[in-house]
Amino acid sequence: TAFTNPPLDPVLLDNINFSRYTTPTPVQKYSIPIVASGRDLMACAQTGSGKTGGFLFPILSASFSEGPQPQKVDPNAGYGRSRKAYPTALILAPTRELVSQIHDEARKFAYRSWVRPAVVYGGADINQQLRSIERGCDLLTATPGRLVDLIERGRISLSNIRYLVLDEADRMLDMGFEPQIRRIVQGEDMPDVHERQTLMFSATFPRDIQMLAKDFLKDYIFLSV
Ligand code: AMP
Repeated sequence: TAFTNPPLDPVLLDNINFSRYTTPTPVQKYSIPIVASGRDLMACAQTGSGKTGGFLFPILSASFSEGPQPQKVDPNAGYGRSRKAYPTALILAPTRELVSQIHDEARKFAYRSWVRPAVVYGGADINQQLRSIERGCDLLTATPGRLVDLIERGRISLSNIRYLVLDEADRMLDMGFEPQIRRIVQGEDMPDVHERQTLMFSATFPRDIQMLAKDFLKDYIFLSV
């Protein structure tokens, strides 16, 4: 394939080939090297631009190569039914449809790797989602309200997060999720901006998104495609 800048993990490349993606879309062409270089990113891109691959590919490629992170010992962690999940990558998106689509891509591209993707969203049975995150939750895709609920129940800890993505940030604000997003990103559980890599995607870049970028990102690259 043409996904050679930078070279992606061979397992990921196999999965990309299997999906018959032959060439990166414009947003992928620019975002993959930026994310792989470790920089924070603010990208203005529309749905349908291939932005999901733009953040999933570099995050998965680095995660595959690095291997599972040693779990921090949590003195409050329970056993069995109250087990806590410690994702290393978190993707926030506004709707059930969108998080489901992202999760489907994550499953497809994490195939045959150690990374276990999980998804949670509001308006659906929480017990079923609790059972699913217990089966593995390395890369979590979530709607903000349901994630806050699971954090408050002590079932998800963000203390191991290394990659944070806010997808369709403008739509999340339109839907009134700003308080939940701030609770998640600025909560004491979330690693400091210097200990994580943060990527924001938005179709538009109005003042309230500029404020979020200022508060959540460090020395970021601005990409508009
Ligand atoms: P997205 O904007 O991420 O929702 O992607 C829009 C659609 O384009 C999805 O159906 C993807 O599966 C598809 N897609 C993403 N990247 C590529 C690519 N490099 N080549 C072909 N199709 C792609």
